[in-house]
Amino acid sequence: MSETEKEKPANFIEQIIEADLAEGRVSSIHTRFPPEPNGYLHIGHAKSICLNFGLAQRFGGKCNLRFDDTNPAKEDQEYVDAIIRDVSWLGFEWDGDVRYASSYFDTLYQWALHLIREGKAYVDQQDAETMSANRGTLTEPGVDAPNRNLSVEDNLALFEKMRAGEFDEGAAILRAKIDMAHPNMNMRDPALYRIRKQSHHQTGDKWCIYPSYDFAHGQEDAIEGITHSICTLEFSDHRPLYDWFIENLPVPAKPTQYEFAPLNLNYTVTSKRRLKQLVDEGHVFGWDDPRMPTISGLRRRGIPAKALRNFCDMIGVTKSEGVVDVSMLEFAVREELNANAPRAMTVLRPLKMVITNYPEGQSEKFSAPVHPQHEELGTREVPFSREVWIDREDFIEVKPNKHWKRLFTGGEVRLRYGYVVRCDEVIKDESGEIVELRCSYDPDTLGKMPEGRKVKGVIHWVSAEHSRPAEVRLYDRLFNDENPLGHKERDFKEFINPEALQVLEGAQVENSLTEAAEGTVWQFEREGYFTVDPDTTADKLVINRTITLRDSWAKIQSKA
Ligand code: ATP
Ligand code: MG
Repeated sequence: MSETEKEKPANFIEQIIEADLAEGRVSSIHTRFPPEPNGYLHIGHAKSICLNFGLAQRFGGKCNLRFDDTNPAKEDQEYVDAIIRDVSWLGFEWDGDVRYASSYFDTLYQWALHLIREGKAYVDQQDAETMSANRGTLTEPGVDAPNRNLSVEDNLALFEKMRAGEFDEGAAILRAKIDMAHPNMNMRDPALYRIRKQSHHQTGDKWCIYPSYDFAHGQEDAIEGITHSICTLEFSDHRPLYDWFIENLPVPAKPTQYEFAPLNLNYTVTSKRRLKQLVDEGHVFGWDDPRMPTISGLRRRGIPAKALRNFCDMIGVTKSEGVVDVSMLEFAVREELNANAPRAMTVLRPLKMVITNYPEGQSEKFSAPVHPQHEELGTREVPFSREVWIDREDFIEVKPNKHWKRLFTGGEVRLRYGYVVRCDEVIKDESGEIVELRCSYDPDTLGKMPEGRKVKGVIHWVSAEHSRPAEVRLYDRLFNDENPLGHKERDFKEFINPEALQVLEGAQVENSLTEAAEGTVWQFEREGYFTVDPDTTADKLVINRTITLRDSWAKIQSKA
């Protein structure tokens, strides 16, 4: 734990835990992160992961990773694998093995029988529409199902028929017998078991009835000895039911549910179901497309796990829902990368510069710091030769005004870490496009100002002989609307930002970078932060821009 983390005032869940420990209600804490494997994790889940695992770390407790896999229709082993990868990558270790709600199906089934025997559950055979109509409304009580007062024996027989596959899907459900007039709709005889004739990724064809979320979740917590079951606010209304099951079942422990505000980020959609639409309908290339707010997309884009953890720390944990500005996430990413990303030079829009007075075949190496603030990281060698690439945007034929510090015909500029060069001649093709600059260098300018004149401009460059072409993918926000889900008449996909991916062909990247360790994110000087994309092959280098150096959205907004 860093100093700043220690100084932060405790959030409301930490306060509850401190009191529980101080007053002996628990001797140690045990939390869990309980994803349903029906999609890849997104940035919202990162908040829940950092909270649950972070509490266990802070209070010397434990945290489980448990798949809440009660609905085989939407779940898949691919999602299980991706979620395990993402939680590990975020830097957390769960207690013991990965757990599955499905491994408690036998116990849950026994507990369903227990409720039937106690007269607290019954099999309802109304069709879904009638059942829904009979639940009543917020102002009207519900109507009892015809089967509500069936005998225990009849209910046991019907539930056995459900389990044995003798009913069609939807023909019968097991419901708790609580109160059809309860002011909380969740307490109006909620569903415990539904028929789903589907193979399950963990239990295969063993079951054709599956427990509901409500009937499973608290009981899973109790089985695992979870002390603080933390979930998002939308489950507040389910808490009385959570407690009802814990009171009415022979559970081995009594967990308590606490709710916190979910992360909502502007310009972003955090819902597995909707992110799945983007994947299935081909709006992105996959769950790990670097434009996606998924943990795997953010990772592929080059965002460090530490930046995500810092972001979650920055936004804090509260009980009231709000919207976090995505620029806070971007800030956390820039802050982390600025502090730790090694520096390098790459030319995104190359223009050839030939240094006519530098001998052909000769080359030399300049020395540059790996990171200007971390001397301990040492220096890197920057090769230089007669032909170099500079960025097209760093040259203009005629100096437009006195503020122009970059190169122009007849002007001088320093090649970063190297010599001062003067542009003597511009070569154009038939269409008039500039294809090459003929320059001369001043040999007496390495590490010092030239004699008798000031050269203020410094530009980045790479040696043509020592670089290779790359495809560079520039990313921007996936949505160009602050609240893509906030439009009644319009689908969120209408607000996809068509410019969220721009591809630059033919950038020039220093050879040495391609040998760097996988996952390295560099600061390409004057351009931003970049990393190698896994689409890279032996023949083709693909680079992702993780983020720009500065927040261009803030600029646009303040201009407007
Ligand atoms: P989604 O709607 O995206 O599928 P979910 O809540 O259904 O989200 P789960 O797999 O059930 O997804 O979530 C696992 C845990 O992550 C839950 O405890 C849930 O409350 C939490 N979680 C989900 N979304 C967010 C969010 N935006 N912010 C914080 N926690 C979240
Ligand atoms: Mg869900």
